[in-house]
Amino acid sequence: MSMNAQGRPTAPAPETRPAASGPAALLPAEPLLFEIGDHDHSGVDLPDVEISDDRLGGLRRKAPLDLPGLTEPEAMRHYVRLSRRNYSIDSGMYPLGSCTMKHNPRLNEKMARLPGFADIHPLQPVSTVQGALMAMEQLSHWLMELTNTAAVALSPKAGAHGELCGMMAIKAAHEARGQGHRRIVLVPESAHGTNPATAAFLGYAVRSIDANENGTVDVAAVKAALSDDVAAIMLTNPNTCGLFESQIIEIAAAVHEAGAYFYCDGANFNAIMGVVRPGDLGIDAMHINLHKTFSTPHGGGGPGSGPVVLSEALAPHAPVPFVTRDGDSLGLAEHAGEGSLGRLTAFHGQMGMYIRALTYMLSHGADGLAQAARDAVLNANYLKARLDDLFTVPFDGQPVMHEVLFDDSFLKGSGISTLDFAKAMIDEGYHPMTMYFPLVVQGAMLIEPTESESLQTLDAFVETMRELAEDAKAGNVGRFAQAPMRAPLRRLDETRAARQPRLKYQPLAAAAE
Ligand SMILES: *Cc1c(COP(=O)(O)O)cnc(C)c1O
Repeated sequence: MSMNAQGRPTAPAPETRPAASGPAALLPAEPLLFEIGDHDHSGVDLPDVEISDDRLGGLRRKAPLDLPGLTEPEAMRHYVRLSRRNYSIDSGMYPLGSCTMKHNPRLNEKMARLPGFADIHPLQPVSTVQGALMAMEQLSHWLMELTNTAAVALSPKAGAHGELCGMMAIKAAHEARGQGHRRIVLVPESAHGTNPATAAFLGYAVRSIDANENGTVDVAAVKAALSDDVAAIMLTNPNTCGLFESQIIEIAAAVHEAGAYFYCDGANFNAIMGVVRPGDLGIDAMHINLHKTFSTPHGGGGPGSGPVVLSEALAPHAPVPFVTRDGDSLGLAEHAGEGSLGRLTAFHGQMGMYIRALTYMLSHGADGLAQAARDAVLNANYLKARLDDLFTVPFDGQPVMHEVLFDDSFLKGSGISTLDFAKAMIDEGYHPMTMYFPLVVQGAMLIEPTESESLQTLDAFVETMRELAEDAKAGNVGRFAQAPMRAPLRRLDETRAARQPRLKYQPLAAAAE
């Protein structure tokens, strides 16, 4: 391993890095547990049990349980070997724009595993879970404080679920006001796919709003589209081009004037937390991805959580349950009052995620959250400044927020696509950025470094990206068309994997027949 000027070890150069496949590799082909184990062995030694059939009501198993017998080292090694094939935020930079893969402080995990949070059951008497309810109350307080809103629904289990919750509250509010006929939802063309999907799921017709040449929403287009038939606008701020919607107040006023509500997609709240309060901008509902904003792993790393904050107008329509307080005693309101949209999930939501987010908030403090947002913005602008002579920036009118969007015009004529470029990044030890999203530009590359990457890490990333871009411009097509060459698996048929997933294990012999 070599050292850079700061005396920090740098990643090995590509030539010296071990190839990740091949007979001598550290990552051999990994069979399934069912293929390693057999029925004759067991990792545990249990005494034979005498069970009389009458106690089982005739439900006694007739064939042996089809589980593989394995020793503990065999099982352990299988999972550790699989884990080494994963790229993770703990193994390197993960610059996935919009998805915000933040470092997850270990303190979060330690707190979430405290028995008073981890080992409780949702059907326990509330008198025995007062501490957990207090944590939920505190989290609610922080979320309303940071957004200047009147209510919060904690139970949605992801951003998309939060959108559903917020839009259901909007629907309930319209119905309560005798405005149930409103059937159109306006969605800017740069929106995340979950926005139109949510609106359509609730039976709304989706009308797309064009972006202007600066990459933000065209206010005139919003005003022209508003009518007595419009129920809401769903707008992301900062938007998915990494830009602050600077005319958001004017948009909110026009939307309210037309009798509609303003749903804000708050997935990018990490760029403005502690700096801007969305309630001050006129939003009525906004989901907050706890798993993007307040650290915590998501995707393959763990569950998500998408609390929704609501304005004064929508608060009466919030779902149940929510935490109530009577003096020192906390409870959960379980029964939907008049106007409430009812219940979205079986219980109260993701306790583990609440604790991780609250830990992140309390360990940063209000000033620290604002600092994290500013650092995220600084890091994204640093990458932009160091790359924009080689990469092409489609919207260059204002500084970016937490992420920087490039398009593929710099690759024009090279025979190399955004996908090829991303695959070549894997060979250099980086998880690719978000590709082909947002759809408003051709061949999008959306890079989000987050606040926690050091200057050294950012510089190493910049050097790699510059070297790749120069090589692409020099027409070294082979390197890109072949990539990834060092990954455990090369290019996969992602379409087929998504369309025809193989979800059921078939014994090899049966599969061969
Ligand atoms: C991630 C994201 C969502 C959806 O959130 P999930 O938690 O993945 O369901 C919605 N909108 C935007 C802009 C996002 O980045």
